Amino acid sequence: MVIIKLSNRQDEILQMVKRSGPITGNEIAKKLSVSRAALRSDLAILTSSGNLEARPRVGYFYNKDLQVMRHSERFIQQKVNDFKANPIVVEKSTSVYEAIVQLFLEDVGTLYAVDSEGHLSGVVSRKDLLRAALGNRDLQEVPVSVIMTRMPNITTINPEDTLLEAAKKMINFHIDSLPVVREVEGRKNTYSLLGRITKTTITRAYLEIIEG
Ligand code: ADP
Repeated sequence: MVIIKLSNRQDEILQMVKRSGPITGNEIAKKLSVSRAALRSDLAILTSSGNLEARPRVGYFYNKDLQVMRHSERFIQQKVNDFKANPIVVEKSTSVYEAIVQLFLEDVGTLYAVDSEGHLSGVVSRKDLLRAALGNRDLQEVPVSVIMTRMPNITTINPEDTLLEAAKKMINFHIDSLPVVREVEGRKNTYSLLGRITKTTITRAYLEIIEG
């Protein structure tokens, strides 16, 4: 946007569009009790300087609103597949002790447990591990399969879904991450694990979009 000194009339138009945009040129003219022709040069200056944007049949927008709209539109369309991170996986027979070590080594908040075929079997979060540790059991002896949230209670997301859908699921189910999966053909509720989406993924994607 080019910074220019606005005339009183131009500033009045800008404030009006901020308040009531999108708004057509005719509506602006009516509110200011001037002819549409009299406004033409002011609107041209405001649009060419980047203060306002015009969209055919919709009218004039304040540029900042438009930017936020554009960011939101772009964010909504992003696909899980393009943002997913590597899943950190343990065998479901892994001990709770070893899972805690993995959590620190990999610097993640959630581990995914898989069965002997490598299919998703459970989710082990920080709280699951803390709860197990509070139980005073021998953590080297307890497998994560005992404490994990298991199938079919796992909320998943597909690679072709959008980040918006992922964000909604995490908020609605009060969870920090989603396994990105593909159902194995002909085997209901049996999933291959392709990645993970976390709340951090969503935040990073949003920042990337805003910062261009
Ligand atoms: P934290 O334990 O750090 O709060 P979460 O909020 O993700 O992490 O986990 C809260 C509970 O939800 C845990 O019991 C965990 O096993 C479970 N959980 C985490 N992710 C999922 C998921 N995708 N589907 C179902 N349950 C989940």
